[in-house]
Amino acid sequence: MNVPHPRLPPPKVQRSNRYSIWRLLREGLRSQRGWSRAWAKASPRARYRVVIVGGGGHGLSTAFHLAAEHGITDVAVLERGPIGLGNVGRNTTIIRSNYFHPDNIRFYELSLRLWERLERDLNFNAMVSQRGTLNLFHTEAQRDLFTRRANQMRLLGVDAEALDAAKVRRLVPLVDLENGRYPVLGGFLQRRGGTVRHDAVAWGYARAASAAGIDVIEHCEVTGLTLADGRVRGVQTARGPIEADTVCLAVAGHSSVLAAMAGLQLPIETHVLQAFVSEPVKPLLDVVLTYGAGHFYISQSDKGGLVFGGAIDGYNTYAQRGTLPMVEEVAAAGVTLLPALARLKVLRQWGGVMDMTMDGSPIISRTPVPGLILNGGWCYGGFKAIPAGGLTTAHLIARGEPHPCAEHLDLGRFAQGRPVDERGVGPFAYLH
Ligand SMILES: Cc1cc2nc3c(=O)[nH]c(=O)nc-3n(C[C@H](O)[C@H](O)[C@H](O)COP(=O)(O)OP(=O)(O)OC[C@H]3O[C@@H](n4cnc5c(N)ncnc54)[C@H](O)[C@@H]3O)c2cc1C
Repeated sequence: MNVPHPRLPPPKVQRSNRYSIWRLLREGLRSQRGWSRAWAKASPRARYRVVIVGGGGHGLSTAFHLAAEHGITDVAVLERGPIGLGNVGRNTTIIRSNYFHPDNIRFYELSLRLWERLERDLNFNAMVSQRGTLNLFHTEAQRDLFTRRANQMRLLGVDAEALDAAKVRRLVPLVDLENGRYPVLGGFLQRRGGTVRHDAVAWGYARAASAAGIDVIEHCEVTGLTLADGRVRGVQTARGPIEADTVCLAVAGHSSVLAAMAGLQLPIETHVLQAFVSEPVKPLLDVVLTYGAGHFYISQSDKGGLVFGGAIDGYNTYAQRGTLPMVEEVAAAGVTLLPALARLKVLRQWGGVMDMTMDGSPIISRTPVPGLILNGGWCYGGFKAIPAGGLTTAHLIARGEPHPCAEHLDLGRFAQGRPVDERGVGPFAYLH
């Protein structure tokens, strides 16, 4: 069981002094007039070795790791809009590796270790904040389930701590422990979990990929896939056709739309997930908190707003906005857990489209179409996976074989009846 975690590769992308203390001082004295674009405004060429569709977190991270680990820079990232407007810029920024399935623990722990050094790798301030993630439990049966998960993590050398109700109160005095419908009995804390400023992640990877020579091409929607002799040969875009040896789909909620262009039907449904941010207030919550008696989670941003969300709305859609019943459900859970929230005003609410797989785990895989690689199925948890998702997808593209940490995320598992049993309840379809 105690399989060592893989060694992290040393990054090979050349560091720049772009954001050195001296540069910041100099620009401060010159009214910030000396900065150039963070990433080049590239135009599409006729041919690349690798085309990545989707300039979200996973597409950009894959591009970065292709350059950094494998020296492959003949790469284009094609994004239909501007960088950062997809889910990478819409999520609630939580990172953690507190999973149950050993293969998932290893994958998300790889990601957490890459988050821990992300800012050095990219030379970009992404405001990585390891403030801890605390999952509350409300019944003894739930405590047993959480204990099982925490033990599994510890067996693999990953941090997890059990807290009783008194310790929860000390850490989060705002929580109403006794009076909610489901009193809080305790919680499990992963101290190394936390938050990262999401759009800085997109910008940081875009900048590093561009600096390594990769074309990051915005406003270039892929409208079709070019197939010949049974394999993918390139893409058709709003700005003309582009040939490629390998095409990687990293389009999150649109995975099934893009795969259908190659005649593939994926085991994925697209749903909307909403999130909310309150008016800014003084610091009152220095941990990411999740409610165990409903789907509600919350953290406080560095600007002071409380960022929170709940479950998916529960119907299939590609619209990036949700409905009021879910707003009511999230507000009810929030006020039950933290009654003080009732006095806050909500500043903004938004939605993003999620590609939900039936076992809740993602897909990093070759597909039945040679040359076509899929990075998708991230459900509502793909932000935390961006560093490892990019690293393992780049490995698959460059070496032609899955990375050892992502072998279990192959597409074939759905056809062969071996879903990732993250809950430990059996290998059934529709686990999630
Ligand atoms: C409200 C909300 C809260 C969330 N909270 C968390 C959280 O706290 N922690 C966590 O781990 N995860 C969270 N997630 C999930 C996470 O954001 C996603 O799983 C992850 O961002 C998906 O990967 P991505 O960044 O590559 O996606 P995206 O940023 O969506 O990238 C995909 C890109 O593909 C582009 N695209 C689509 N079609 C085409 C086309 N035809 N041609 C060219 N480009 C195309 C899109 O424009 C988009 O930019 C949350 C999601 C939402 C919506």
